Amino acid sequence: MDLLLVGAGLSGAVIGRNLAEQGHRITIVDGRSHIGGNCHTERDAETGVMVHVYGPHIFHTDDEEVWNYVNAFTRFLPYKNRVKTTSQGAVYSLPINLHTINQFYGKTLRPDEARAFLETQADTSITDPQSFEEQALRFVGPDLYEAFFKGYTEKQWGCSPTELPAAILKRLPVRFNYDDNYFFHRFQGMPEEGYTPMIESILDHPGITVHLETMFDPDTAADYDHVFYSGPLDGYFDYRLGRLGYRTLDFERFSDTGDYQGCAVMNYGDRDTPYTRITEHKHFSPWESHEGTVCYREYARECGADDIPYYPIRLVEEKALLNDYVALAKATPGVTFVGRLGTYRYLDMDVTIREALDTAQAFLAHAAESSAMPAFVKSPL
Ligand code: FAD
Ligand code: UDP
Repeated sequence: MDLLLVGAGLSGAVIGRNLAEQGHRITIVDGRSHIGGNCHTERDAETGVMVHVYGPHIFHTDDEEVWNYVNAFTRFLPYKNRVKTTSQGAVYSLPINLHTINQFYGKTLRPDEARAFLETQADTSITDPQSFEEQALRFVGPDLYEAFFKGYTEKQWGCSPTELPAAILKRLPVRFNYDDNYFFHRFQGMPEEGYTPMIESILDHPGITVHLETMFDPDTAADYDHVFYSGPLDGYFDYRLGRLGYRTLDFERFSDTGDYQGCAVMNYGDRDTPYTRITEHKHFSPWESHEGTVCYREYARECGADDIPYYPIRLVEEKALLNDYVALAKATPGVTFVGRLGTYRYLDMDVTIREALDTAQAFLAHAAESSAMPAFVKSPL
């Protein structure tokens, strides 16, 4: 079959590769001048530093099949994400761990003591936390919430943490030991040469043709047996019901020599520091050595029509609009909506790959049984 994939990010690359391996002819279009979507990395011409162009990307997963998949296409080197945060004039370790608690309160608590101590800080009257703020007050109490989460979250999401779901904070653990690994997955690493060569290698198959700087033209869809679309769900329908809300990011890039901040990611918890974090890219490749350094100051704001959509907001209003777009998508035969934009969800890379593998599998199983192609809309709700 002739299949069109919109987007040469991880979703498009993995689906394309798996279907090409089964003998299908794959055409991929991407509006950007490079493959890799938001995982794109490139070396800075001046310093040689590998830059995560659309923000810091660390690969972490519990999914062994996905881990084996990415390792088949590139060499991963061990990398642990150790994030620091600057707040109220001091530097602390994240996620909140025993070091953070002892440093913040000037104590020398052991694990059980720290657990009992935090329980005295927590608001135990909150039995079923619904909002981000309730989740924070219930589990870490007001002092740590104010220092590390409140201001940062207001900057990141542009609203009060009382309006955000508890699920956003649940992404971060609180640890009563000195483990400062930001993630808790079994497999974690960084591709030695960045993500773009990995995705290039996934796309390197005689059945795949990639056209860059080419936007999807809906009029061409009829030339293909099926379309996999990893662009914005509302964009596919010309935003006819309105725009799904996103946060966008501005990266203020600056170069220096030596070591600017001593770590890859430094968060800024205070509300009056306008940026959320500074990323120093060379620390993502600790096996390399560079005299110069490249940093990004990261600012979050509401996403306008010409901005890159980064984080889906998914508050109550967006969910109603999303339902309407999902109904439209389900009524669009011959198109499968995939990936972080096509399903309007925040998806880590490993989940993106897992869903892409499953989507390709489901498509192949269906194609083996029937000649009519279904829409294959994965419900984003
Ligand atoms: P994308 O990467 O967005 O690719 C979609 C592609 O489609 C783009 O290249 C776009 O140009 C193209 N496109 C869209 N519309 C059209 C159109 N109409 N015509 C032609 N082309 C089109 N995940 C992790 O696992 N670890 C991390 O540390 C991590 N950090 C992140 C940090 C940030 C700031 C963000 C925003 C995400 C992060 N992620 C991380 C998630 C990761 O970026 C995604 O999992 C991944 O990019 C999803 O791939 P995708 O192919 O679905 O989407
Ligand atoms: N967060 C925070 N302070 C921090 C780091 C994270 O308040 O120093 C909040 C913020 O709201 C963020 C959420 O915790 O969106 C989840 O953190 P994660 O690191 O997963 O952030 P994201 O992937 O959203 O950037």
